[in-house]
Amino acid sequence: MPYFADLILPLPLDNRFTYSLTEEEAQFIQPGMRLAVQFGKNRIYTGIVALIHQNPPEVYEAKPIHQILDEEPLLTNDQLKFWSWLATYYLCTEGEVMRAALPGAFLLESESIVKLSSEINTDFEELSDDEFLIVEALQRQSSMKIQEIEQLLDSKKVLPILNKLVSRQLIDLNQEIYEQFKPKEIRFVKLNPAFEAESEMHKLLDELSRAPKQREVLFTYFSLTAKSKKPLKVKKLLNESGASAGVIKSLIDKDILEEFYGEVDRVTFTGEINSHEIKFNQFQEKAFNEINQNFSEDKVCLLHGVTSSGKTEIYIKLIERAINKGKQALYLLPEIALTTQLIKRLQNYFGDKVLVYHSKYSLNERVEIYNKVLENTEKGKIVIGARSCIFLPFRDLGLIVVDEEHESTFKQFDPAPRYHARDAAVVLANMFQANIILGSATPSIESYFNAEHNKYALVELNRRYGNVLMPEVEVVDIKTAHRKKRMIGHFSERLIEEIKESIKEGEQVILFQNRRGFSPIMECNTCGHSPQCPNCDVSLTYHSHNNQLRCHYCGYHIAMQNQCMACSSNEITTKGFGTEQVETELKALFPDQKIGRMDQDTTRGKHAYEKIITAFENEEIDILIGTQMLTKGLDFRKVSLVGIMNADNLLNFPDFRAHERSFQLMLQVAGRSGRTQKRGKVLIQTYNPHHQIIQQVSTGDFKGMYAEQLEERYQYQYPPYFRLIRLTLKCRDYSKTNEAAEWLARALENVFDRYVLGPEFPPVARIRNEYYKNILIKIPKKQSLGKTKKMVHRILSSFRAIGVYRSVRVVVNVDPQ
Ligand code: ADP
Ligand code: ZN
Ligand code: ZN
Repeated sequence: MPYFADLILPLPLDNRFTYSLTEEEAQFIQPGMRLAVQFGKNRIYTGIVALIHQNPPEVYEAKPIHQILDEEPLLTNDQLKFWSWLATYYLCTEGEVMRAALPGAFLLESESIVKLSSEINTDFEELSDDEFLIVEALQRQSSMKIQEIEQLLDSKKVLPILNKLVSRQLIDLNQEIYEQFKPKEIRFVKLNPAFEAESEMHKLLDELSRAPKQREVLFTYFSLTAKSKKPLKVKKLLNESGASAGVIKSLIDKDILEEFYGEVDRVTFTGEINSHEIKFNQFQEKAFNEINQNFSEDKVCLLHGVTSSGKTEIYIKLIERAINKGKQALYLLPEIALTTQLIKRLQNYFGDKVLVYHSKYSLNERVEIYNKVLENTEKGKIVIGARSCIFLPFRDLGLIVVDEEHESTFKQFDPAPRYHARDAAVVLANMFQANIILGSATPSIESYFNAEHNKYALVELNRRYGNVLMPEVEVVDIKTAHRKKRMIGHFSERLIEEIKESIKEGEQVILFQNRRGFSPIMECNTCGHSPQCPNCDVSLTYHSHNNQLRCHYCGYHIAMQNQCMACSSNEITTKGFGTEQVETELKALFPDQKIGRMDQDTTRGKHAYEKIITAFENEEIDILIGTQMLTKGLDFRKVSLVGIMNADNLLNFPDFRAHERSFQLMLQVAGRSGRTQKRGKVLIQTYNPHHQIIQQVSTGDFKGMYAEQLEERYQYQYPPYFRLIRLTLKCRDYSKTNEAAEWLARALENVFDRYVLGPEFPPVARIRNEYYKNILIKIPKKQSLGKTKKMVHRILSSFRAIGVYRSVRVVVNVDPQ
């Protein structure tokens, strides 16, 4: 009997692909292992075994496999099931899920480019001959293709060797697009063994009697190493002895101390644990008990707790319970909320049990974390990270925390799978029969709706910890202020007064300016022209720090112009205002204050974000201006005033979630104010002081906002009453985009009738010279979601079979945000 393996290949193929196995191979191979196989003419890919069976494929002859890459499965069965669910639900392929789910270093293929790891420090003696040849070749040339390595070794079977080198972190794959992570090397010293005997030690100390500082350092060294003979960090020796680096260098030069460098495990914790005991207040206690009650009934829990009510402490306790039962715990949160502050809090409590999985980590670090989770080691019981953490190979997941569950960045926008990590986490928890808690100060309408309809359990925390009051909110009508000339630039007199007051009291201020859709653009006062991006249908935005006009979609840029490009007039102004302009105005208003700015431009480098936060914490900054980045998970003690520069640009965004989002954003920003005893203040500047959302923000009226938005969603047929699938067609040819969109919309209308909207150009209809057109499918609650998706899938297949539309790509977005 022949044997076959169905493989998932990292390609947008609808089906798994079947390869033939020898009996021996079939005995060894298990689902979840990687195999290198040929696909297409001459290409080698890494595939994942999904199934082993004995049924030959019907329409093609199965090819033999190329090589086996793993000795143990790299994926668990649960992961395979989860991938399959994701592909079906989000209308993408398992191959696309595979690309998103596995660290790139696991996906060796013939197109891979191999480089020497930047962190290489190995004993070459340990390498096999073949490994040595590769490493040596890579030391001479900066990178090699797989083919070149095959030639080098004169063998076709190089992938397993490379694989070993990857797992030992000696080489990197396809690394260039990632930021390189600096090696974390730490300097250690150790006493020269020649002086270890007591007599030798005394002799040495006598000899050093005329070098008292060096003697002093040695005494410190002895006392610090009295208990353990482990090498000592130079930094520690410096700190404890108070000596200068020069003194230590002299000891090294005299061969008394030996110096060497060691690598520390980057992804784990190196500090000390000082886990305090958490003592809940009565409200936390009650919430905690309710959560556990709901968990015991296998319910998804929604925790609605106002900002600073102590939700994080509750999560910590829940995590502790889960790991005490020997389970793994996953703490998911949006990328921007993944701050050092929070990570430190968890590490202080759980020490090196916490692993952090971050998009800024290199491929090697991801591999390291992946393996730790797969091995289910004590060190990796708790994983904290952003959305892609749901792809880690959990063995025995007991708890998932989804913090800031309302955040739209849990949804992956591009590329496929366009999954929502919160929703996917609910499915993942269900597969493991794990508990899951969704938490927020401003829950999403969908989640709250689920709670209201008993799909989730609701637990509430209405008070801030330590009886801190919710901040007082004041709305400033800037329309009137403008008329009465009570504005200086974008600052109302009220805001200026309040800033002065805070500064006088020695407190800090946060000013929030939303960037989205509201960056400064250049406009001609004479003819009204504003410079456009040649590749996209948007105006270029002005960046004062490098005096450029830039496109936010494709990065196109030109120098700022002094004359109108259309009519040569010199009468040009910049319209709209961003964080940069707030900063400029603020510097003029408060020349003596230290002002910081946090937005995408000032936080580019790996640690830039952290630096600004730390500077603000250390009160090296008095007033911090920022975008969305400021809203999440930060706990600043001395902020007494939060100013929202302009609420209207949030409210006027053309999107059915705009009002919900504005409410969430403003309330979250407001939550940064007054986290200690003194009551904080929030000032909202707006042209529409009577807008219902502004009113709801100022009274913290979540339920009012929810009820009103729900009514609108019902009326206009949006979630949670209707589900949405958005199809976006993209093509460089304008009329082809239109024709194809018409065809597709008609085909969908044949089945879904009036629940198909469009085709329609989105607000930005051309990006990077591609035209965009959207079709929206609305799915009523009573209509089967599964059947609908099958039908959409079928229609898309017919569409893709039409030759003239081959150049049109269709992006499918299920539950678009
Ligand atoms: P949230 O996550 O709801 O915004 P946090 O958990 O960050 O709130 O709590 C707000 C502040 O109150 C933090 O500084 C936290 O350390 C403190 N806090 C909350 N609960 C407790 C507790 N039970 N004991 C001591 N401090 C607490
Ligand atoms: Zn002009
Ligand atoms: Zn552009």
